[in-house]
Amino acid sequence: MPHTPITYGVDYYPEQWPETRWAEDARLMREAGLHVVRLAEFAWALFETAEGTFEWAWLDRALAVLGEAGLKVVLCTPTPTPPAWLTETYPDCLNVDERGVRMSPGTRRHICANHADYRRLAMRITEQMAARYGKDERVIAWQTDNEFGCHDTIRCTCPSCEPAFQHWLEARYGSLEALNEAWGTNFWSQRYSAWSQIQPPRPAPADHNPGLLLDFYRFSSESWVKFNAEQVALLRQHAPGHLITHNLMIYFFHFDHYQVAQDLDFVSWDNYHHFGAQPVTVAANHDLIWGAKEKNFWVIEQQVGQVNWSVYNPQFPPGMLALKAMQAIAHGADGILYFRWRQARKGAEMYHSGLLDHAARPTRALAEAALLGERWETLAQALEGIEPAHDAAILHDFASHWALERQPHTRSLNFQAESDEPLLFAGDEPLQSIAPMNRAGLYLLPMYEALWRNNLQAAIISPEGRLERYRVLFAPQLHIATASHAARLRAWVEAGGSLVVGPRAGYKDESNGLHEVPQPGPLAELLGGTVREFDTREPGNTVELDFGDEALQAGVWCEVWEPAPGTQVLATYGRNRDGSLPYYAGQAAVLYRRLGKGQVITLGTMGGWQLIEYLLPQLGLSAPIVTPMNVEAVRRGPLLFLLNHTEQQQEVTVPRAWGDLFDKKKVEEKVRLAPYGW
Ligand SMILES: [Zn+2]
Repeated sequence: MPHTPITYGVDYYPEQWPETRWAEDARLMREAGLHVVRLAEFAWALFETAEGTFEWAWLDRALAVLGEAGLKVVLCTPTPTPPAWLTETYPDCLNVDERGVRMSPGTRRHICANHADYRRLAMRITEQMAARYGKDERVIAWQTDNEFGCHDTIRCTCPSCEPAFQHWLEARYGSLEALNEAWGTNFWSQRYSAWSQIQPPRPAPADHNPGLLLDFYRFSSESWVKFNAEQVALLRQHAPGHLITHNLMIYFFHFDHYQVAQDLDFVSWDNYHHFGAQPVTVAANHDLIWGAKEKNFWVIEQQVGQVNWSVYNPQFPPGMLALKAMQAIAHGADGILYFRWRQARKGAEMYHSGLLDHAARPTRALAEAALLGERWETLAQALEGIEPAHDAAILHDFASHWALERQPHTRSLNFQAESDEPLLFAGDEPLQSIAPMNRAGLYLLPMYEALWRNNLQAAIISPEGRLERYRVLFAPQLHIATASHAARLRAWVEAGGSLVVGPRAGYKDESNGLHEVPQPGPLAELLGGTVREFDTREPGNTVELDFGDEALQAGVWCEVWEPAPGTQVLATYGRNRDGSLPYYAGQAAVLYRRLGKGQVITLGTMGGWQLIEYLLPQLGLSAPIVTPMNVEAVRRGPLLFLLNHTEQQQEVTVPRAWGDLFDKKKVEEKVRLAPYGW
């Protein structure tokens, strides 16, 4: 598998501008040091003007103008935006959401992956495009479709999905008896006597069977995984020399990123900073994307200023654009493409910034992009084939995520909850810094943040990932655990790994039911104990965790553990925030055991990053470099990136004198960083 190519470019929509403008745009792109443009992800209606009538002349001319200027091209299959004639001819290809509402045409992603005619036409436009441009040397890569899952469009309950779901279940379970057993359909008289009786989870008076829900989520995810794989197969056939990627988006967790990534040469993602996003959450997003394939990635849409869609839409201050690009590169981005070249004059995204404004004036962002463009060759040489360092990995499992999403069991862990009320306190101090848009962070982020604050680097990977590459593993949400998870993790620990497991581990089986044995089910031997009971606590009702030498704060979810012989109790529950004692005061909250050459720490509760930071010495981890808050030091091969995310000047003392990549004369131990500097 070749390295992810080093690429610097921009996303361009020639179809939205007069042809007489194209050459000037191309010239300005080159002047800014950009050398790649991404094209065409929303241009289906211009390629196929009526069913079976193809028009490629405009793209031929655009490629000629761009190629003439020395620009290379990433072409996209245009399937997220079917033309109006398609949805008029085949109106039942419009997807139906979980409320049973059929989408209207006219925007994007309003289609069902399982609708036969949409699917046939989506693959035909892909094949036509690949056959025409698959051997074109100006084209270096392809992006399949655009942002699977955007606008909550993975889960479709339409009449095409119903039989497809039934067939999927038949293939998974083999017999109705097996399905009835796995889902426990004796509950509420849900027993099925024919596959045709099983429906996607449409609106109903009460909650659907959790087994049905999780399998429907798996089926929905796989529908798009297969849609992507089918496009990839066509591209591989017709464009054998070109690389293939797809642009993931961090919040779109309704499909399994690890499965989509398997079919791609490398993954890309679209790096947007909604209002309230913090440097730590953006860093975590990069590391989650790196972990999708455990390989360097591209940021194929890098925000350049205001977006049009957040709650508030602050402008980037001077320096922010280059800082965001450098943060991505530090965390393993090999490509940066800015979104978008020019602010649109028409259409729903007209308030979204571009490197040119809507009137074609160059912006501050273009000047900053050009400054990085001047340095790109130096960077490219230094980055080629170099991966970021990883001191640890954090396991992230989609099935567990979907199970927790549907049955959070406490409002505080409800991923859909809009509120960002603090959940944990030390005295009067809130203990969390979680981006409110993504409550998946409640499991994952405290572990990530503890590492990040100490400039320790973590990849966020699948439990099926390459565990042997890491010395320390965190498993914050291994809610659905199987014997195979247990065996894999056990072998890894015995060989010398340090494992930290979070609460709610191993409570559920693969069918989203509870194991026959006490929590943590098949993980009991590995973790060295079982859960006797658990409590959920309302926001702010923190409980003390007594480690003997230290008292820390926890809350939200509190499990009472019974250690097996040979397992130590590392911490017990102490006082409530108001000073009273919970009935489980003095009971086991955190377990510790040695196993083979390794060790396992089990957390029965949720703390802030402080809890994880307290455990770092036990895991053999310490800060390689100490930096002020919100100044990151990120290691990528022989390179050290110092990134100042604050609006103040900062000073960092590095452990030895380092040369400057861009200024060979400069060698420093004390590095001064300008506001938003690097
Ligand atoms: Zn459907």
